[in-house]
Amino acid sequence: MVWFLWFHGSLRFCFACYTAGKMSSISVPPPKCLQKPLTVPYRHMFGPGPSNVPSRILEAGANPVIGHMHPEIFEIMNDIKSGIQYMFQTQNKMTLAVSGTGHSAMECAIFNAVEPGESVLVAVNGIWGERAAEMAERIGARVNTIVAPPGGCFTIEEMEKALSKHRPALLFVAHGESSTGVLHPLDGIGQLCHKYNCLFLVDSVASIGGAPVYMDQQGIDILYTGSQKVLNAPPGTAPISFSERACQKIFSRRTKPVSFYLDLSWLANYWGCDGKPSRVYHHTGPVTAFYSLRESLSVLVEEGLENSWERHLKVAEYFHAGLESMGLKLFVKEKRLRLPTVTTIVAPYGYDWKEITSFIMKTHNLEISGGLGPSVGLVLRVGLMGCNSSRENVDMVLAALKDALKHCHKSKV
Ligand code: PMP
Repeated sequence: MVWFLWFHGSLRFCFACYTAGKMSSISVPPPKCLQKPLTVPYRHMFGPGPSNVPSRILEAGANPVIGHMHPEIFEIMNDIKSGIQYMFQTQNKMTLAVSGTGHSAMECAIFNAVEPGESVLVAVNGIWGERAAEMAERIGARVNTIVAPPGGCFTIEEMEKALSKHRPALLFVAHGESSTGVLHPLDGIGQLCHKYNCLFLVDSVASIGGAPVYMDQQGIDILYTGSQKVLNAPPGTAPISFSERACQKIFSRRTKPVSFYLDLSWLANYWGCDGKPSRVYHHTGPVTAFYSLRESLSVLVEEGLENSWERHLKVAEYFHAGLESMGLKLFVKEKRLRLPTVTTIVAPYGYDWKEITSFIMKTHNLEISGGLGPSVGLVLRVGLMGCNSSRENVDMVLAALKDALKHCHKSKV
């Protein structure tokens, strides 16, 4: 029956083409939907990412496409590299942006730094630790985890105990755990890792630019982030940097990294980080995404890193006070552990969190989200990042939440 309908449909299409004057060889007609113009609504993007992209950055991305190996692009890539070094506070030569989202940088870090059979330790306090562990498992690493309850973090003593027990080649920590809203303290961990001859890998996708990170001073060996959060660039590029120690390990591997696309020796050459006189084609760099990333780094440079950290902290404190005055509870109890970019609110008792997020989207044209991974059902998440981190936006979110609590169904129990 299905075959008959398909055959019949194709025949009708061919016949239509024939009667229109020419016999077509194609059996899939041009889709009607693509004959209508593209429409994209404006939304307040106050979830955990992506955040709104200001017109200045959108316009930068609308510049003409030129070749990914043209000298002007190499200059733009060099500017990006300097911007990342500033944002990460590092002098590392091996600093670049992976062509992909945050996940591609995660895989780039793990796939290059770890060889099959090596030991990896993952500090799991949310979904990003879970995913890092899964990535390391997939390449045949021996993975050990320490797990904190959602909303918690690890002490230096717990870290040291695990490092001395498992003797890993790499330790993973998410600085900004966007699934739980935790800002994990980093001080002292790098030094510990070096004592145990282990590389220190930090995920700063949700925190960079919004909370202090000092890559070199904190002894971080590999640090990566994404473009679509505090940087307010479209998703699709992922800044990453490798210390001298990380490079020494990576460039003396016995085996080739499992991914050609993410192989650091190729990326290092494309980004002019390997000191070689010429660059060889590896992949087609997403040049328009590079323009946007460069512009977003310019915005950060203009504001100044410390001012940006301060603004995110002040706005988060203002937001948290507003939530508490409404009777809502913050999921992360200890103030110093609260991520200033992504706030987790204990899911209001008696409500269905999905009804709240849908109501706010429908009525206020505003995205906030529910939990992710271990925090599903436990929290609402609000991200105010980069240009979105302002008191006006806090007031908008608080008003939307008040409205939702008034209109959404509340169970009697
Ligand atoms: N790490 C963290 C802390 C994140 O918040 C995210 C994105 N939510 C990622 C990694 C993955 O980034 P992407 O979605 O850009 O691949």
